[in-house]
Amino acid sequence: MYDKLNEIREETLRRLNEAGDEKELEALGVSVLGRSGALTEILRGMGKLEKDERAKFGQTANLVKKELEDAISLRREKIAAAMQEKRFALEALDVTEPGVRKRPMGRLHPMTQTYRTIRDALVGMGFTTFDGPEVEYDEYNFTKLNLPKDHPARDMQDTFYVSERVVLRTHTSPCEARALLALEPPFRLVIPGRVFRVDEADASHSPVFMQMEGLVIDRNISLADLKGTIDAFVHAVFGEEVKTRFRPSYFPFTEPSAEVDISCTMCGGCGCRVCKGTGWLEIMGCGITNPHELENCGLDPREWSAFAFGLGVDRVASLRYGITHNRLQYENDARFLGQF
Ligand SMILES: [Zn+2]
Repeated sequence: MYDKLNEIREETLRRLNEAGDEKELEALGVSVLGRSGALTEILRGMGKLEKDERAKFGQTANLVKKELEDAISLRREKIAAAMQEKRFALEALDVTEPGVRKRPMGRLHPMTQTYRTIRDALVGMGFTTFDGPEVEYDEYNFTKLNLPKDHPARDMQDTFYVSERVVLRTHTSPCEARALLALEPPFRLVIPGRVFRVDEADASHSPVFMQMEGLVIDRNISLADLKGTIDAFVHAVFGEEVKTRFRPSYFPFTEPSAEVDISCTMCGGCGCRVCKGTGWLEIMGCGITNPHELENCGLDPREWSAFAFGLGVDRVASLRYGITHNRLQYENDARFLGQF
């Protein structure tokens, strides 16, 4: 019986160290000290012993029982302390920790980025910005720009009429007339803004788009000044390696007029899908300001001469960023805009 008692004692102390939580400890206690526990069984079997033996064994067994009870309660305290420590660790709050939830960063629209690049290139050449209204008099939008009421070139633009005399401007050029009337030449202006045309929205058309226009007026302005300025401007916006070429064209407010092409920014001029195999991309219209426009704005074309150029900011943005559908720039889908 002593051997059995010792066995129970050692077994219990060993299992005690393995008990990881309150529940396991409780189960262990019951299996040893409970009503039908191992130790209780032994104490119960003591009745068969002789009187002297019984007293002696009883004393030993009670010592063991006391030892085990103490060991169990000590273990219980340790487990409780460990649990509390664990909970404290979990609940701990580090007030110096940086915030983990990052808010998505806003970015500039590709068109805004492109506009700023173009504007900065021109401002670097001594241009200043000039602004005008989007709802404009027919007078400034057409008549002053050498497009009188019966001029066939008015058919080139499908215009939103607000009233007989008022339109949504079809280009930024009415600001040219406003500037020529208001400012004292010489000056150089960059004129950005939204313009409107009656157009179904598709891959390359939109009823509203962003245009940008440059106007330079001085004495003895020549086509060489125009070409030099546009060359410098194209290099600043698209890179030094990009070439330009001028093709004769027609605009009512310039004479002579030209379309400007740049060597394809996608293929470098070898020919690709974007440039339709030609190696060139049409980028803007330009020309020497028609003397009639200067006259209409009260300036003497024998004293003053000017040149102007205009381009679509969305088109330039598409070429810079390889955007295939212009329309995407007006839909303001955050998934699209987040890429720039
Ligand atoms: Zn190409």
